[in-house]
Amino acid sequence: MGESYENRNLIENIRSQFPILSKKIHGQDLIYFDNAATSQKPFGVIDRIKTYYRNENSNIHRGVHSLSQKATEDYEQARNKIASFLNASNPSEIIFTKGTTDGINLVASSFGELLNEGDEIMISAMEHHSNIVPWQLLAKRKKLNLNVISIHESGEIDMESFAKLLNDKTKIVAVTHISNTLGIINPIDEIIEKSHEVGAKVLIDGAQSIQHEKIDLKNLDCDFFVFSGHKVFGPTGIGILYGKGEILNKMPPYQGGGDMIEKVSFKETTFNKLPFKFEAGTPNIVGGIGLGAAIEFLDSIDHESFIEHEKSLLNYAQEQLTKIPNIRFYGQSQQKTSVISFNVGNIHPFDIGTLLDKQGIAVRTGHHCTQPIMDFYKIPGTIRVSFSIYNTKKEIDLFIRALKKAISILEI
Ligand SMILES: *Cc1c(COP(=O)(O)O)cnc(C)c1O
Repeated sequence: MGESYENRNLIENIRSQFPILSKKIHGQDLIYFDNAATSQKPFGVIDRIKTYYRNENSNIHRGVHSLSQKATEDYEQARNKIASFLNASNPSEIIFTKGTTDGINLVASSFGELLNEGDEIMISAMEHHSNIVPWQLLAKRKKLNLNVISIHESGEIDMESFAKLLNDKTKIVAVTHISNTLGIINPIDEIIEKSHEVGAKVLIDGAQSIQHEKIDLKNLDCDFFVFSGHKVFGPTGIGILYGKGEILNKMPPYQGGGDMIEKVSFKETTFNKLPFKFEAGTPNIVGGIGLGAAIEFLDSIDHESFIEHEKSLLNYAQEQLTKIPNIRFYGQSQQKTSVISFNVGNIHPFDIGTLLDKQGIAVRTGHHCTQPIMDFYKIPGTIRVSFSIYNTKKEIDLFIRALKKAISILEI
């Protein structure tokens, strides 16, 4: 299975933009297959961060001096870029957060204030812990009911279970676009449409979709969309919460402090307009600017070739892995992104992960912050390989060889 000439050139060009990919681990070329945990960073992002600290560092939204104005402009330009990349109606609907976890906590805490005893929240059985625990905390605090949509043995969401749970008490449905453990792409269009029919709002956890799918918020029509910068070629400690303006305007502030206010006195404080109402304190300025650079990088790659390349990696790896005796896959669907979770016989995933690392290959092992999925399959964890645009079929061949070697050592 060769790669087409054009594609090979495209991938080589992309690889050359990621300095870490030429690193050696235990004397071997690094093969990075842990992209669902975090992606690597291109020069565009690394250099932008360096330039900011070398030439532009200053606090924003405050100073009249030149540096402060330039930093403010760059930070707000990053917001505009992200808004247009996501096709949001207005940049004021784009709120900088620390990441997906922070965005979900913001919504659970602030939107949660608008809910009343007996109201219902719905999540699915395949959620990341960060889309479970904030809702559990809220449900407890406000005496709400938390319902969980079940999944099929294949790992796909059970849409009958969803339909059964949905009712006019459902106020918010919070589901992941793509499962970080199973790689399955959920039918979120249908979930959003049906939820809206009963008046429920929908939060989409886009932590695994922003780097693979083209997100068009106007078309999607979800009420909230959250993701982390670090999984989409950007820095850690920065993320985005998109919310529809009319809903964000009704929500109380999440945290109080500088920048989120309009006027403060001991008698009364009034709050700033969107998006600043939800951005208390000095933000992660360089993070926002770095995320802007990451989005620029993503935008520079032809999306069709991107998707096609990742699909071919997924299919090729799946084909090769299937030949391994006693392999069991978790998460099988026609709608899948380039994430594969598996186990081999009774071998503990950590043991395989360790032996792969010795051969320079980074994979993820464990529960992937989705313990309910592990309980569902009655396993302690899985080995997860996840591919990005810069991975190649040659790397998959080397991985398969290394995996076979690890298995042969562990099986005796
Ligand atoms: C990574 C991930 C999260 C959490 O993201 P953080 O960057 O750790 O806040 C949430 N949901 C999914 C689906 C993820 O993959």
